[in-house]
Amino acid sequence: MQTPMNPSRPAESRKPAANPVSEFTRREFLAGGLAAVAATATGLGAEASTPGAEAIGPIDPGYVGPQFFDQQEMAALREVMESGSPFRYWGPGRPAKVRNFEERFAAHMGARFALGVTSGTAALDCAMAGLEIGPGDEVILPSYTWWSDYTCVIQAGALPVFAEIDRTLNLDPRDFARKITPRTKAVIAVHLLGGPCDLEPILETAARHKVAVLEDAAQCVGGSYHGKKVGSLGDVGIYSFQINKMITSGEGGALVTSTPRIYEGAARFHDMGGLPGVFAERLGGNSQLKMFAGENFRMSELTGAVLGGQLPKLDRMIAALRQNAGAVLEGIRTLPGIRLRQQPDPAGDLGYAVFFEMRDREMRDRCLQQLRQNNIPASTMAGSVMLPTQESVINKRARHADWPSFTTPAGQAMRYGAEACPQTLGIFDRFVQVRIGAKYTQRINDYLVDNIRKIHQSLG
Ligand SMILES: *Cc1c(COP(=O)(O)O)cnc(C)c1O
Repeated sequence: MQTPMNPSRPAESRKPAANPVSEFTRREFLAGGLAAVAATATGLGAEASTPGAEAIGPIDPGYVGPQFFDQQEMAALREVMESGSPFRYWGPGRPAKVRNFEERFAAHMGARFALGVTSGTAALDCAMAGLEIGPGDEVILPSYTWWSDYTCVIQAGALPVFAEIDRTLNLDPRDFARKITPRTKAVIAVHLLGGPCDLEPILETAARHKVAVLEDAAQCVGGSYHGKKVGSLGDVGIYSFQINKMITSGEGGALVTSTPRIYEGAARFHDMGGLPGVFAERLGGNSQLKMFAGENFRMSELTGAVLGGQLPKLDRMIAALRQNAGAVLEGIRTLPGIRLRQQPDPAGDLGYAVFFEMRDREMRDRCLQQLRQNNIPASTMAGSVMLPTQESVINKRARHADWPSFTTPAGQAMRYGAEACPQTLGIFDRFVQVRIGAKYTQRINDYLVDNIRKIHQSLG
């Protein structure tokens, strides 16, 4: 299970985080929580300490993408280096890694167009540009998600409006409907923690109110909903290739859409507002927009090379995760009183983790403590951010005091804070997450099932 990407750490870093229940941010999670579980699995196969009980060392789910690195990525990287062409548009070696990756990625996701960029956050900024969102517009997003879903709305000068999550751990379709105003231009339907959100009612409500749907599939790359790949069902979808996601190049992101105008706006924004040949070609020479002020979020050929090697393995990564998650879910589904995460489409879930709900926060904390004592990679549904309760959000702090997001009457009237998301806070307090690894063995799956059963039953 240990890979060169995941070197063993000193023993002291293996102990569980001091306070297993704090609502840490993803960065703290990466620095502490995940590092603790990602340490090593040296105890695997160790002699049992108590007769009849099987000892097992800290279980390491690892990082999925790097666990599948092999000669494919290496050979593609070598080609880029040897040809002297690390830039996507030109160079001595007729570079085509990013171009090819975009075309394969679009086909894989079932969309007409794909755009490779430098991160999932950049992809969100491009999506905002593609949807032509700006000052005066409102964008609805879930209260619990990653920062980028909030910052992209701010960078666009639009007003973020928070909606609750439900037991899917994703956007509550009913609360989304309640938050729509005549100014609502888009909703960010996030597929968090490997699970597709309940898109059908979201798409239906959005269509009725002429609200654009931006799918954030950063944490669900390759997942599906009703047989279609997430990211391809709304107006535009985005993905991240950062190490914690699925296929990875360390950093990187992509956007997909089947709407030419959205693609043109996103492609222009990602490259200074111009429309380089490859995009004009894909649009069949039918440009609908004029040049405007953009950014530089171009993907490098080195990134394209790694992703070109990773993409063909995405289905295998997901199959491995699903098999292990399926084994664990099967083993705990029959527990009396167990309340699993609600899955709008179980077949489309990545199997990145299994989730269940405890009676209250105290029970959740006791459950976490006991799972961790048994070396199980358990946490709260940590990894993202309770956005409305963040100080910088409450104080509406953008990079300039007169930022247009908050100067409109609606922006001035907006109140964030815990009152904005009571349901989401309650759900966060009750759910337990147990990470699943693509490389888990049957023995680890059985161990997880045995311990979750025992601990859940003892806590009631
Ligand atoms: C990781 C993530 C992003 C941003 O991706 P980066 O590549 O890290 O910029 C956006 N949304 C969600 C839900 C994420 O988890």
